[in-house]
Amino acid sequence: MSDAFLCAWQELSRQLKGEVFKDEPMARHTSYRLGGPAALYVECATLRDLSATFAVLGAYQLPWAILGKGSNILVADQGWRGAVLTLTEEFKRLRLPDEQTVGGRGEGARDATGWIGDFGNGGREKGRRHVGNHRDGARGIVPPPSSSQPFGGRYTHGQQSTADTQVPGGLLVAGAGVLLSTLVQAAFKGGIRGFEFAVGIPGTLGGALAMNAGTAKEWIGSVVRSLTVYRSGSGLARIEGDELPWNYRQSGLPAADIILEAELWATSGHTGQIRAKMEAALNRRKRSQPLTKPSAGSIFKNPPDQSAGALIDALGLKGFTIGGAEVSPLHANFIVTNGSATAADVLAIILMIKQRVKEAYGIELQNEIRFLGFEG
Ligand SMILES: Cc1cc2nc3c(=O)[nH]c(=O)nc-3n(C[C@H](O)[C@H](O)[C@H](O)COP(=O)(O)OP(=O)(O)OC[C@H]3O[C@@H](n4cnc5c(N)ncnc54)[C@H](O)[C@@H]3O)c2cc1C
Repeated sequence: MSDAFLCAWQELSRQLKGEVFKDEPMARHTSYRLGGPAALYVECATLRDLSATFAVLGAYQLPWAILGKGSNILVADQGWRGAVLTLTEEFKRLRLPDEQTVGGRGEGARDATGWIGDFGNGGREKGRRHVGNHRDGARGIVPPPSSSQPFGGRYTHGQQSTADTQVPGGLLVAGAGVLLSTLVQAAFKGGIRGFEFAVGIPGTLGGALAMNAGTAKEWIGSVVRSLTVYRSGSGLARIEGDELPWNYRQSGLPAADIILEAELWATSGHTGQIRAKMEAALNRRKRSQPLTKPSAGSIFKNPPDQSAGALIDALGLKGFTIGGAEVSPLHANFIVTNGSATAADVLAIILMIKQRVKEAYGIELQNEIRFLGFEG
């Protein structure tokens, strides 16, 4: 470990409420269970932690990347020389429209004024609160190239149909570190509809928002009223849901923004109907996705009006293996692994598929998953 990382680790360990690890194996933090060490792995438990982290990283000019649950990412076998940040405690709170707060270890129930996005005015106005200054590090997680494909499914851009019934209070507020599964269950228990599509999608709310996670027809972006982000270099900012493009598997969020919290539209529904929708979605997922083996979900975005999985399947690639990685026999857009796989095996299959699809159809498949540590 270089002096700069060692000094940063010492300073962060002293200053932060959250834990700070050096040379942390990323295999522990990804659904693929692959990936070598990150030079630093920083658990930011509070906004103060996050601000202090950026002050230290800025002072040593160290690169950083933000990670949720690592369910949409492939980390290189050699790891990454940078600081991987993750949001814990304060960022795991969830408030239903009736103001009942769930989660957030050690936080207990808090009223609205304790929330990050409130900006001292109930979160109703756009604004920015300065919470620290530092020099930006480069973000290490590489987004896929922007896609020009048209947006296909239901998209309400955060607007509500006039037929919808708003839950009194109207908003579900959740930290970016909340698991999507926790959010979906809380919505169900609170009689809030509109989140059923997300049942079974692994990861955090922050990751889901960054990826605009969802199905072919519904995505998280359509229920966003606002996001509170930490903008490296300037501090907190509020972004209205309809300021972002929310394209297919991309939010359009600026690369240096870390999502901290979201206000989500809460529309009341019939619990029985919500349950039925969730069960149907879960059953579809169980039938079509290889859920018993490590993966990062769909590797490629669907090209316009096509299914990446169907294109790969038609080339007879289901079951194709390199080392311990395999094109799933169940869903050709999933690459699954066994215990002996390396990230290099997964990458080799990705590159092979791209080449074969290009040769056969003239289509350049775009990555849906993100990569860390493969630069150069
Ligand atoms: C079995 C399986 C099934 C899946 N099914 C689906 C599906 O049906 N639909 C779907 O859309 N996805 C699916 N996925 C992919 C994945 O679950 C989603 O993309 C998920 O939303 C990623 O969340 P995460 O917290 O794991 O993000 P990570 O993988 O940790 O990060 C993904 C990206 O989001 C960024 N990010 C994370 N947190 C923040 C934050 N707070 N602020 C800013 N950026 C952030 C990261 O930098 C990275 O670029 C599946 C994955 C698996 C393993």
